[in-house]
Amino acid sequence: MRKMEYKFNNSTELLELCNKHKLPISQIAIRREMELSKKSRAWIRDKMKDVRDTMWGAIQKGIKNSTKSKYGLVGGDAKKIYEGMAKMGKMLHSKVTVRAMAYAIATAEQNARMGKIVAFPTAGGAGVVPGVLFSTYQHMKSSKRKMLNALFTSAAVGIAILEHGGTFSAAKAGCQAEIGVGTAMAAAGLTEMRGGTPEDCLNAAALALKNMLGLTCDPIGGLVEVPCVKRNAMGATMAISASDITMLGVKSFVPMDEVVEAMMNIASCMDEGVRETAFGGLAITPTGFGIREKMGLPKVPRKYLKKCHNCKLKNLKI
Ligand code: SF4
Repeated sequence: MRKMEYKFNNSTELLELCNKHKLPISQIAIRREMELSKKSRAWIRDKMKDVRDTMWGAIQKGIKNSTKSKYGLVGGDAKKIYEGMAKMGKMLHSKVTVRAMAYAIATAEQNARMGKIVAFPTAGGAGVVPGVLFSTYQHMKSSKRKMLNALFTSAAVGIAILEHGGTFSAAKAGCQAEIGVGTAMAAAGLTEMRGGTPEDCLNAAALALKNMLGLTCDPIGGLVEVPCVKRNAMGATMAISASDITMLGVKSFVPMDEVVEAMMNIASCMDEGVRETAFGGLAITPTGFGIREKMGLPKVPRKYLKKCHNCKLKNLKI
């Protein structure tokens, strides 16, 4: 069987391929895809164009829509930020960052409304990559080609994480594997878009993911709404920060592959209550309980309530 020239099993190998072929991450990702699918470069780029257009469609709908989700937990914040930033004038964050937050929330709100989005890497964490990349694309007046390449770079980082034994599953590793991974992917894509080297891209990814380690998955009522929607915005700011300090020469002390290993080590210590069950963290706050009741969900099993800080405070008999 012919050896795959562009296959990589982790970020280290991805970087080696970039150095060997003197290519950016995006081009290694495209060649890997061509090898795997036996399709042409044009076909693969067209597929990614579909992804890009679907992402943009969700953003466009999301920033105009103030409809609340079914139980009223989210909806209308993207519009609030997007319209508000024009009126507000000077903000503490740059316009590109605030707009990235608006776009990230727009995508996540569309997901909560059952609108069409791209799960990149997952539906819950779908806002970070498009939020960051589209806002920067507009800010830099970048070319469509660079935007598309940035998406390939983000995707390659996601692949490297999976190939190295990581996961996108919140049931396995909490939100560090959803919005955390999305933030790392966004940081890498953004860094390539602004002219960073492959090493810079992976450095930004490592800085971003390091800061998301241990992030719980504790959605109120089991809905992908709170904290998910606004967490996408926070991921966007972190991706931009990681890319900024990378471009200023800051190095991650721990390389990307080791950060992924740390993520999985932490996953193995994470309580089941904060791994997508909606039986821990924010999901069992008084607000979380209130929504459960409103939705008519069954009671939270006693074993999870034993760890509920609020129940202890109120000395509830459980
Ligand atoms: S909190 Fe859980 S459901 Fe929400 S985005 Fe994070 S991993 Fe997904």
